[in-house]
Amino acid sequence: MATYETPDNPKALRETLLVAIHTMQNFSMANRKGDHIDRLRRLVAECDRKRPLGMDGRHGNRHTNECGCDISESDRTASILRLKLN
Ligand SMILES: [Zn+2]
Repeated sequence: MATYETPDNPKALRETLLVAIHTMQNFSMANRKGDHIDRLRRLVAECDRKRPLGMDGRHGNRHTNECGCDISESDRTASILRLKLN
């Protein structure tokens, strides 16, 4: 396992990764294209772990310590507890 630091919030990074996946799928002739797409998908999954989405594709109040939302600590703590209960 590796750890990476980036100044981009999970929402923005996820959007960029999805554009990269779409571009790879439709326009790339790269060798090992499937491996590249698999790695991009794992990064998207990591963004989703940091900033969970609901079935509707919205983040809503599913806040974590790493989601990047500007909310109070009490709201964040309440949301984390709610996520752990579900
Ligand atoms: Zn959040």
